[in-house]
Amino acid sequence: MAERFHLEHASTGDIFRRAVAEGSPLGREVEEYLDAGKLVPDELTSRVVEQMVVAQTTDYILDGYPRTLQQGRDLEEMLRRRSQQLDVAVYFDLSDELAFERLTGRRVCTECGANYHVKFMPPEKDGVCDRCGAELEVRSDSAEDVVRERLKQFREKTYPLVAFYEERGLLERVAAAPAPGEVARATEQVMLRARPQ
Ligand code: AMP
Repeated sequence: MAERFHLEHASTGDIFRRAVAEGSPLGREVEEYLDAGKLVPDELTSRVVEQMVVAQTTDYILDGYPRTLQQGRDLEEMLRRRSQQLDVAVYFDLSDELAFERLTGRRVCTECGANYHVKFMPPEKDGVCDRCGAELEVRSDSAEDVVRERLKQFREKTYPLVAFYEERGLLERVAAAPAPGEVARATEQVMLRARPQ
């Protein structure tokens, strides 16, 4: 979608994982949360998003942020200060069972970050990235108990954002159970409505 709509793809999960891999001060601060499947504190997360994304550019997809009502309010405030507005909030609607299966079967390229799934989207050659040929790895937060904790955190802390964005008339729902191509087409339609090309 980022390529299709000429937007920057800004993922807080990617930013945090990179920081951990680099051993930076941010990485040392967030590592324990990522490993436990817990959310990084709101204040730190929102500060990172403001400094690394919102202050840098105006056209982006925020992937994995906001994840709590407080973060939703923080984002509103950072945009308000810049007289900017959100176009759309997309909710990918998926049962816990399918989310569990997808998250535990995930494989990620160590070089280019491409995502695979052992069952639903396997690479052509086991353990090797189709795009760049580098090795695939299991994300450290794909272990079953960590995924269970992440789903619990989602229900408790992130799900209330659905009502938050509904109230603001910004929510679009995409059924995320179908195959990737179909979910991509539905997402594209939702984004086209918000940002006609
Ligand atoms: P993700 O790749 O989006 O699934 O994020 C991986 C992990 O990074 C999460 O389980 C959290 O520990 C942390 N994280 C990512 N985004 C956020 C956020 N918006 N708020 C708090 N923690 C986050």
